[in-house]
Amino acid sequence: MLSRKHLLAALTLTLFGGVAQAADEVVVYSSRIDELIKPVFDAYTAKTGVKIKFITDKEAPLMQRIKAEGENATADLLLTVDAGNLWQAEQMGILKPIKSAVIDANIPKQYRASSGDWTGLSLRARTIAYSTERVKPEELSTYEALADKQWEGRLCLRTAKKVYNQSLTATLIETHGAEKTEAIIKGWVNNLSTDVFSDDTALLQAINAGQCDVGIVNTYYYGRLHKDNPQLPVKLFWPNQADRGVHVNLSGIGLTRYAPHPEAAVKLVEWMTGEEAQKMFAGINQEFPANPKVAPSEEVAAWGTFKADTIPVELAGKRQAEAIRLMDRAGWN
Ligand code: FE
Repeated sequence: MLSRKHLLAALTLTLFGGVAQAADEVVVYSSRIDELIKPVFDAYTAKTGVKIKFITDKEAPLMQRIKAEGENATADLLLTVDAGNLWQAEQMGILKPIKSAVIDANIPKQYRASSGDWTGLSLRARTIAYSTERVKPEELSTYEALADKQWEGRLCLRTAKKVYNQSLTATLIETHGAEKTEAIIKGWVNNLSTDVFSDDTALLQAINAGQCDVGIVNTYYYGRLHKDNPQLPVKLFWPNQADRGVHVNLSGIGLTRYAPHPEAAVKLVEWMTGEEAQKMFAGINQEFPANPKVAPSEEVAAWGTFKADTIPVELAGKRQAEAIRLMDRAGWN
């Protein structure tokens, strides 16, 4: 028969064995397309042996699921796009701050939540795209100038329901105040050549097809189309270079409040902010690495360098509700 001591030793072994096994796994809820993240996770597993399970869905149901699971959480990390969405998750109380000198050193402050609840991993600019057949780049200057008479019947926009445009508007409010921002957006709406688009790719194709001459898009959508058609008569323009710079947003990640494997999860996030993962994670989707020590891919570098707005991106979340109301008042559908 086993003595008490032996029993205790056996129990301890089982417990620690269990913990060790559990720590060899990280569960990620992700709103990014599978193909954009799987190679990165596979690389981490190959390197460390840590298994990564990920569930892909739209951000809203994923956040609801984390909230509903509460203390019985299955997810360790939430991976999504746009500071507006990450901020929402923060407001729902489903994230918990990560304290990590590694992440702090790798990712500039403006691309992290001041609470520590999330960090950016890759950056995208929401910038102006124009027809090289009907627009000279000298005619372009700022986001604000797209409200000028010159662009009447020539502008395409995506729907105001998309968080990307809500975040852009939020940063305009931060810069100009509500009144001036509303006037700018009314000007944009007046200049529309057609109904708003449901996605940036359709918008770029409309510029290509001659339906409009200018529009506002995320850089990686341009990158995808350009890769398929290098002769595309559409180019990117970097606005506001004489003042605050181009609106930059991000995709990012946060630790869930009741993460079952918090240590392993933080290690994964730390690795994702480092050189090897940054190159891969940003490169796959033609985004810019959030770690400034890592160079963008050749394709992305070919778009040229630009001055980016240094506004902390979490402001996009803080002013999101205000932005939605303002866009509605200004008639942006
Ligand atoms: Fe997108």
